[in-house]
Amino acid sequence: MPIKEVQTTCAYCGAGCQILFKADPENNKILEAVPAKGRTNDGTLCLKGHYGWDYINDPQILTKRLKKPLIRRGGKGAPLEEATWDEAISYTAGRLSEIKKKYGPDSIMCTGSARGPGNEANYVMQKFARAAIGTNNVDHCARI
Ligand code: SF4
Repeated sequence: MPIKEVQTTCAYCGAGCQILFKADPENNKILEAVPAKGRTNDGTLCLKGHYGWDYINDPQILTKRLKKPLIRRGGKGAPLEEATWDEAISYTAGRLSEIKKKYGPDSIMCTGSARGPGNEANYVMQKFARAAIGTNNVDHCARI
């Protein structure tokens, strides 16, 4: 089986590590990721770079892409049901308010993403946590 090597930039976070994908061109599948010698990674990758690419071969591998908000109207363990954005935002605001009232603001944490949303969305997220919720419990997926 001929193996094709393609160097690219890891898409997970902003560090810009260089990955060398080994691919099976006949079946259009990526087989392995190894670190390339990039300016920022110098021949190393974190776990996401090494192993977090299997969704490329199968975009449904983790979860199907969400196209509408989903709510468990029946509570924990109930099936997820489609909702409108207005319903989802009202539901989330109501539940966060209940939790904050019952357990205090530090019972809630907010986490940002290094991937898609960009700096502005992460800024809004931490502002929401601090100003609206009243907690400094702010974290980021890159810490894994
Ligand atoms: S997720 Fe890991 S491998 Fe990918 S760019 Fe960030 S640090 Fe590098």
